[in-house]
Amino acid sequence: MEIRLAERITSLPPYLFAEIDRLKAEARKKGADLISFGIGDPDLPTPEHIVQAGQAAMADPRNHKYPDYEGMPEYRAAVCRWYERRFGVKGLDPDKECVSLIGSKEGIAHIALALLEPGDVALCPDPGYPVYSIGTRFADGIPYYLPLRAENGFLPDLESIPADVLKKAKVLWLNYPNNPTGAVADLDFWKRAIEFAKKNGIVILSDNAYSEVAFDGYRPVSFLEAPGAMEVGAEFHSLSKTYNMTGWRAGSLVGNRTLVQALGKVKTNVDSGIFQAVQVASIAALDGDQACVDRNNEIYTRRRDVLVEGLRSMGWDVEPMKATFYLWVKTPNGMKSMDVVKRLIDEAGVVATPGVGFGLGGHGEGYVRFAITTSEERTREAVERMKKIGW
Ligand code: PLP
Repeated sequence: MEIRLAERITSLPPYLFAEIDRLKAEARKKGADLISFGIGDPDLPTPEHIVQAGQAAMADPRNHKYPDYEGMPEYRAAVCRWYERRFGVKGLDPDKECVSLIGSKEGIAHIALALLEPGDVALCPDPGYPVYSIGTRFADGIPYYLPLRAENGFLPDLESIPADVLKKAKVLWLNYPNNPTGAVADLDFWKRAIEFAKKNGIVILSDNAYSEVAFDGYRPVSFLEAPGAMEVGAEFHSLSKTYNMTGWRAGSLVGNRTLVQALGKVKTNVDSGIFQAVQVASIAALDGDQACVDRNNEIYTRRRDVLVEGLRSMGWDVEPMKATFYLWVKTPNGMKSMDVVKRLIDEAGVVATPGVGFGLGGHGEGYVRFAITTSEERTREAVERMKKIGW
């Protein structure tokens, strides 16, 4: 029997990273010792006090059952307390304005099912985290790619969106601090975005996964700090990057209650919530000492500086990022990003991600992304190896 898959699967773009995996496998076969800046997954362990809270909760049989769909009330309360402590966002109702997520990725993918009718447009940043547009397509919506350009500080030019697109647009995805560009947005930007959303009847979905990965004293803001945010949108957050907890799968959506409850409704029908032991560990993370976050950022700062200095000494055009663990680097001599990545693997045993992989709009071309999730020592070694290549 021939199994015929749905078009939403067969029409997915070819997986660029399969080609990179092939190049890596080939290099390893030749004996290369690869140093990877490819994956946005912290190499540092989850802090001990969080692991201990999770271990104790795991041993408690009360946590072995199905969790509450929307998340334990204690977890949602801890998320809202954290929003107040960290961003000064007061008065969030944990019952109606916060839902737990099994990592923010699933919520980002699922919310399209709650918002989009077939043919509705979602405005997606390009380059950008691919799940905004893939979730849109899975819900039979249409992604419209908003270019993020260096000359605009990698912020979208909302005024340049054509009127016919605006008419069909229902959702605006924004992600600051930004993956992959490392760009940040201030409250002024959020105020303008909210004005734009109100004028055009468009929902803002903010993805703030990297708000705690920041350097040189810079403190990222939350969309929810801007006046009127709760009327027009909501914000995804995650414990993944803040506390080195990518494998635990814990996140949240906080904001406008209609949006939060609609996503909750989707989720009651497709999953059964976060393992309670993980929620208990997450409460320990959110309510506990935040010194672990500073320690992470000190380590990332040193790695960033080694890499920036090294690439600059090679004549590359690099601006150190203020936040996220992504260094977004212009390719030398206007080279295609995939060609740079191939040479890095072949000639230096260094893995980076080609900008062209971050969205179908193609606006990531001409850049390469380095994730500083490799030790300072290995970063130094990578720099020495890259310097030996003539560009
Ligand atoms: N948003 C952005 C911009 C990301 O880069 C990622 C992960 O890499 C996520 C969301 C999802 O993170 P998680 O599902 O672990 O919360």
